[in-house]
Amino acid sequence: MRDLSSLVIALDPKAFKARKISGFLPESSLQELARDATVLEAAQVEVTLQLDKERWYVSGQVSSKVEVKCSRCLDPFAMELVVPVDREYVVGPDVGRRMGEVEVIEELVYLEDGQFSVLRMAEEELIISLPMIPLCREDCAGLCPGCGAELNREPCRCEVKTDDSPFSILKGRVSGKQ
Ligand SMILES: [Zn+2]
Ligand SMILES: [Zn+2]
Repeated sequence: MRDLSSLVIALDPKAFKARKISGFLPESSLQELARDATVLEAAQVEVTLQLDKERWYVSGQVSSKVEVKCSRCLDPFAMELVVPVDREYVVGPDVGRRMGEVEVIEELVYLEDGQFSVLRMAEEELIISLPMIPLCREDCAGLCPGCGAELNREPCRCEVKTDDSPFSILKGRVSGKQ
């Protein structure tokens, strides 16, 4: 297995048309990903780089294992990230952006210097694949907004306080009128 963390490929159509990239990125190299999640395992990279009509296509898979926090119960949990990669690169400046237009039709990545970094591509793919609202499990009960009980492990304590609630005062007033 090859360490790809410092692999930067010059996208030169004269040098090659296609090439396979396979290896790993050690946990310590995944610093961008580490901002959003705790990296538990080195990332595995298995992609093909191909040239077709001045466009470079990167396809294959990137995977890793991270720990994130459940957005409901706030418990950390581990999850496997297996991300299919399908990207297009163009060497040169982003003409659309330079003209002040917004590129909406195609998802293209412009590489001004033509230097393709495997680490950068892999980290971007892994970060995009992180869930916006991580859940430790589909039916996580989370925390009670009233008493803060961790509902996966303990019962809600809200009912104990019923006597102090505005609802019971209202009840008392109603019964007092009768
Ligand atoms: Zn949870
Ligand atoms: Zn409660």
